[in-house]
Amino acid sequence: MKKLLLAFAASALVSLAAGQEVKKPQASQVQYLRCGALVEPESGKLRKNVLITVEGERVKDVRDGAAASTEARVIDLSDRTCLPGLIDTHTHVLLQGDITAADYDEQLLKQSVAYRTILATRSVKRALEYGFTTIRDLETEGAGYADVDLKKAINNGIIPGPRMKVATRAMDVTGAYPLLGYAPEVLVPHGVQVVDGADNARKAVREQISYGADWIKVYSDRSYFVRPDGVLDDIPTFTPDELRAVVDEAHRQRRKVASHAIALNGVHNSVEAGVDSIEHGNYIADADMKIMIEKGIFYVPTIYVGEYVAQGRAATGARVWLDMIKIHGETFQRAVKAGVKIAFGTDVGGFDWGVNPAKEFPLMVKYGMTPVQAIRSATTNAAELLGMQNDVGSIAPGKYADLVAVKGDPLSDVTVLEKIDFVMKGGEVFKSPAR
Ligand SMILES: [Zn+2]
Repeated sequence: MKKLLLAFAASALVSLAAGQEVKKPQASQVQYLRCGALVEPESGKLRKNVLITVEGERVKDVRDGAAASTEARVIDLSDRTCLPGLIDTHTHVLLQGDITAADYDEQLLKQSVAYRTILATRSVKRALEYGFTTIRDLETEGAGYADVDLKKAINNGIIPGPRMKVATRAMDVTGAYPLLGYAPEVLVPHGVQVVDGADNARKAVREQISYGADWIKVYSDRSYFVRPDGVLDDIPTFTPDELRAVVDEAHRQRRKVASHAIALNGVHNSVEAGVDSIEHGNYIADADMKIMIEKGIFYVPTIYVGEYVAQGRAATGARVWLDMIKIHGETFQRAVKAGVKIAFGTDVGGFDWGVNPAKEFPLMVKYGMTPVQAIRSATTNAAELLGMQNDVGSIAPGKYADLVAVKGDPLSDVTVLEKIDFVMKGGEVFKSPAR
């Protein structure tokens, strides 16, 4: 088994040394995976002793306990639980932690886009090794279109990484997004494309799509404060007119829109405009949850990052981030009860890539999801949000052989998902337990 893996790795190295692309599994190459158990997110069932046949980069067959052909390669995961490859629908591969404004400014002012992209090659490798075989990367934070190139390098087999959907530059209005606070005479970079007015918003959408954006990202609010009645209030950035222009232009070009909306008005304006996902959503009014359900708008809660940055931001005077943790938990609970579609997203990059984003799972369970609901959010639900349900999100014939394995039962303890030690993407093994 190990020899086979080594041989596989060696052939990949040979290809790279010759300046070629890493070879994907041949279309006809057959492999078998013997799983002690397989999590099926749709049914919520744990299927015991499963044999999965992989042909080329796709799953050919999933059956109970049958023997594998002796000639084919068999990967023995009989002491492990297999799951579909996980999906993180909110990442920033070009950001390396962002607790304070200083952390952020440092990266944009002192690191070249080239250097940031080199760091990002490490981020995408880590994502894959954590078990995230697909990600939606929600903007480069000032690194232009580097995400398009990262995706290209991964797809061409130049560097290891997950399947990527990318948002490129994102948009916000003048005066709303860092870098901020510099003298008017000093020209500084911004973490977004600064856009004002409906026509300019439409133009920016066209421009970003022409350079490779799969998704359009907008920042819909800023400057948060808790009202006496407990509602988290904000300053909306775009006008409803501007937001509608973004959504209309993106949808016209078959792209979806992700809206960073943390509080009351940002969320409200976004759901009214018809965006496709609400990112963070620390506070969502009941009426807006209703609209989300009616329109099929997803909620991507990113709970962990809020807890991660809160202490640091409170220490620099922004105590509201501590209050926001509690409000976020209550909102998440209401959303689960109301039946809002929820997709797993972490905002990793906002916190250090050395931290496993799977830390989000136990928080989702803590605030009201069952383990299988949390797993669904990172598999079938996330695949639906990305429009990739025919390719990823479950292990079934015809889908990509994107599969992870772990010791223990994630349906009773989601924290085991922080210890994924087998990762296959498109039939290629990227991580394997030592035998
Ligand atoms: Zn983010």
